[in-house]
Amino acid sequence: MGAPSEPFTLKTRKRSMYCRRCWYPLGEISTRECPECGRAFDPEDPGTWRRRSRGQWWLATVGRPVAIALLLVGLIAALWTGFAYHRDRADKRLLAQLAASNLQYESAPLAPSWLAPWLRRTGAGAPETIVTVFFTTDAARDEDLARLTGLRNLRHLYVDGARITDEGIAHLSKLRRLETLWLSGTSVTPAGIKTLSKARPGLKIYGP
Ligand SMILES: [Zn+2]
Repeated sequence: MGAPSEPFTLKTRKRSMYCRRCWYPLGEISTRECPECGRAFDPEDPGTWRRRSRGQWWLATVGRPVAIALLLVGLIAALWTGFAYHRDRADKRLLAQLAASNLQYESAPLAPSWLAPWLRRTGAGAPETIVTVFFTTDAARDEDLARLTGLRNLRHLYVDGARITDEGIAHLSKLRRLETLWLSGTSVTPAGIKTLSKARPGLKIYGP
């Protein structure tokens, strides 16, 4: 390391050197002072200058993290949308497979309300999930209740059918979000209800 007054040649200089104060490129000048702002620097001491230009510095400290964050948000949104549409199709496919034809259902949107109109405009429709199923007029069977466990977001279930037994409602313990179960004209016994209540203490059960 030479004295500040000592001149030095270009080949000893590092080209990617920038003034710490004003970002002026110092790589190709032969003085030890920034020609722009006069700040002194020592080419041998990296603490007295910057290795990156202002643009590179912004890219590294602001641009790159922002780009990564945006990419992650986009990725999560894409994954979530894919999952929501998968849920929508899976729910509807499952209903179509039920042996009982006499049923009604209610859906809830899976997308936030501000996003739903935009999704509808894409032609794919806003994804929905089935939250309520009504079996009417003696239609439900035990095997239907076993299949219903695929409706992950089912919250309310109305079952009307003498063919429904304790064996059938035992499947419903797998529906973690089920809140209310109405039983009408079923062959379910108090023992069957007790078993289900034990498995799902929060579930409200009405009627046999
Ligand atoms: Zn400077």
